[in-house]
Amino acid sequence: MTTAFANCHSHAFHRALRGRTVGGADFWGWRDGMYAVAGALDPDLYHRLAKAVYAEMRLAGYASVGEFHYLHSPDLAEAVVEAARAVGLRICLLSTLYERAGFADEPLHPVQQRFVLPLEVWQGRVADLASRYRGDPRVVIGTAIHSVRAVAPAHLAAAAGTLPDAPLHVHVSEQPAENQACLAATGRTPVQLLAEAGVWGPRTTAVHATHLTPADIATLGASASSVCFCPTTEAELADGIGPSVALREAGARITLGSDSNTVIDPFAEARGLAMHERLASGRRDGWTDAQLWQAAGADGHASLGFQVEDALELRSSVQTAGMTEPLWAAAAPDVVPPSDLDPDAVAAELTAVIAEVWSRV
Ligand SMILES: [Zn+2]
Repeated sequence: MTTAFANCHSHAFHRALRGRTVGGADFWGWRDGMYAVAGALDPDLYHRLAKAVYAEMRLAGYASVGEFHYLHSPDLAEAVVEAARAVGLRICLLSTLYERAGFADEPLHPVQQRFVLPLEVWQGRVADLASRYRGDPRVVIGTAIHSVRAVAPAHLAAAAGTLPDAPLHVHVSEQPAENQACLAATGRTPVQLLAEAGVWGPRTTAVHATHLTPADIATLGASASSVCFCPTTEAELADGIGPSVALREAGARITLGSDSNTVIDPFAEARGLAMHERLASGRRDGWTDAQLWQAAGADGHASLGFQVEDALELRSSVQTAGMTEPLWAAAAPDVVPPSDLDPDAVAAELTAVIAEVWSRV
């Protein structure tokens, strides 16, 4: 038996893109494919897709998920929360403020219009969700700032203060282009701009944090913020390798997420974190096993507002025979499935619902 995992950054609907967009040259080409899927979803289809994806997460050993949710028109938040509840996965629904296409107020892509809400309208929806799920131990309502691209600087502090005690997440410095645009428009890096708005602190998670300055690392560490790395997605999207060890040593808590759900395997995320650091640093001792378990489990659950004691069981397999450290030897298929889920039924439902998504694109 070993600790169940926390999946701290998920976009459930991206699961439908697995294997479909490998030909794009860069992040921005991938994003066009993602918009096509987002445009095809209605509440019923998204509920069924999210339910199948969350079932896949439970089969892989995750006990909780942080869903970074920005499909607001219509608002699919309840479809997502109910999907997680239906398969026994804890969910931190991070309702996300998204106001604009970029610093220059570029025209919105037609699908981006489904993400956009004025600040006050979004705050009202967040309050409604928090009130609806208050007292449910398996649901946390938190908030997210999509990115410094998507929220006006003048609104960052108000967004951060909307649920002042709940988890707050924000995509930060995933791509160099975001840093360049932010510097050109504000004279600050995204981390510094967010620091001035009072965003950082122990309840806040910076997602990706790939391209940081030494001052950014010091800011995230000194504020005891969490930083969520998504190694399989960051590699798939050619984002780069973030400074995970430098952030941890500066005082940040590191967590892990499956993000685009191209891979749903917490062992792969934990190994990826350590292996990327080795490739970037030329050293093999950046992450110990104990530090990786902490990131993949307890620190992750805490960053989503959960205290989770769940454990998972590994079957004896060729990979795990003789192992002393399961994180390095095991993969998601080694997890003994929870008794309420049939892996074959989950796979069949995923196949059917993804086919239906693409039939509408
Ligand atoms: Zn994301």
